[in-house]
This record gives sequence, structure tokens and C-alpha cells, in this order.
Amino acid sequence: MAVDPLIELRDVNKYYGKLHVLRDINLTVGRGEVVVVIGPSGSGKSTLCRTINRLEPVESGTITLDGRPLPDEGRALARLRAEVGMVFQSFNLFAHKTVLANVSLAQIKVRRRSREEADRRSRELLERVGLLAHAEKYPAQLSGGQQQRVAIARALAMDPKALLFDEPTSALDPEMITEVLEVMQQLAREGSTMVVVTHEMGFARSAANRVVFMADGRIVEDRTPEEFFTAPRSERAKDFLSKIL
Ligand code: ADP
Ligand code: MG
Repeated sequence: MAVDPLIELRDVNKYYGKLHVLRDINLTVGRGEVVVVIGPSGSGKSTLCRTINRLEPVESGTITLDGRPLPDEGRALARLRAEVGMVFQSFNLFAHKTVLANVSLAQIKVRRRSREEADRRSRELLERVGLLAHAEKYPAQLSGGQQQRVAIARALAMDPKALLFDEPTSALDPEMITEVLEVMQQLAREGSTMVVVTHEMGFARSAANRVVFMADGRIVEDRTPEEFFTAPRSERAKDFLSKIL
């Protein structure tokens, strides 16, 4: 695939105090590409996601989104941040708002859409994640898998250029994991640009264009799923795979 870069990190380094949490990260995510990030706990996967979304500053290196460097602060940053949708392990829905209102809120506040326009778009997206019938319910009335699908609809509502998922199924009961992965598979098939931190190796094998393996803040391997799973090169990856497969 000829890579048309959408997200690019060049020589990115980040510290938490003395902890060197991201080390010389170089990563390109092409438009329409699905990159799955795996690695042991504490290897820097979540930090990488937050860095791409500029929820966290970095000490050195450059990050560009669609050819433009991420601004450091202010309105330009808020605008750019809205270009990258993020889905977390904990769905972070507003408990006192309906499903529909949860999906519409940022469209109204950030995208300045009218309520009618936002609600129309929200209903389309709720239909897409199979939850239109639940639009008027409150989050607590839904299962964890349904709440996570609402969170995905909410991220999509901003028409982001890319979607980041940080262990989106880790907090879910096993029977709910599939319904969330199916929505993500669908997005991948439709050509969404996605960076997905997950331990779901089935998803990595079937949906990823590339698997990025991290250990100790470094990208240790960056290869196709086929190459990575059949013949991991590094001892760290072999060790990791032997524990989870
Ligand atoms: P992963 O998502 O791969 O488990 P993280 O990116 O969450 O890893 O964390 C990488 C390292 O940075 C860990 O050692 C973690 O303890 C540390 N860390 C994460 N967030 C913070 C923070 N806000 N302040 C200080 N240290 C942090
Ligand atoms: Mg994490």
C-alpha cells in the first residue's frame, strides 16, 4: 500500500519526571490504515495514544496530523484534538444525559451544530452501532458493551480524521467484547484510520494492516500481523506472545 501519511511521529520522547516513558518513537499511520499497538503493561501504549491526541505534551520530537504539526496549546489545539476521536477503556459517558444527548453534546459545543442537526447525525450513528432503539435511555440502563458502542458513536460524531482506541474492550465482560469488536471491524472495513491498543489478538490478525509491539517505551517491532504473529523477531515479543496466546 502506498502510504499517504495521516499521523506521523518523528523522534518523539516523553518523560514523567525521571521516567523516560516514550523513547525515540517513529511511527507513521497512513490514511485508512489500522495499526494495532500491543505490548506489556507499562510499556507506554496509553501514553502514546494520549500523545497523539496531545492530551500530553512531549519533551522532544514532532507529531503531525494530516501534514500539519500539532499546535502546543490554545484554540488551534482544541480544533486539532477534535480531529482525532478517542475511545477509552472506561466509556466516560455522562450518566445524567440520555444516549442521544451524549452523542450530540460535543457536536453542539465544539462543532457548533444546531441541536436538530446534531441529533439527526447522532441517530444515524446510533443506527450504525446498532443502538438506535436505545437513544432515549440513560447509560446505566445499558450493558457495558452497549455503553462502549455509544462511546464509539460519540467519537464518530465529530467526523474525526482518525480514531484512537485504548483497550476498548478490557473493562467488558467476555460476552460483550464481540459486539464492540464487530463495530470496530466494520469501521476498519469502511476505511477509517485507526490506532488500536488491544490485547485482542483475533482483532489484530483480522483487522490490522500493521502490528506495533512496544516494550519499555520503545517500538520494538512494526510489521504486518502475519509477519509478527508467525515470526516475531525480538525476544520481548516472543516472550509476550507466549504469555497471551
Ligand atoms: P501502558 O498503557 O502500556 O500500560 P502507560 O502509557 O500507561 O503504559 O504507562 C507507561 C509508564 O508511564 C508506566 O511506567 C506508568 O506507570 C507511567 N505513567 C503513566 N502515566 C503516568 C503519569 N500521569 N504520571 C507518571 N507516570 C505515569
Ligand atoms: Mg494502557
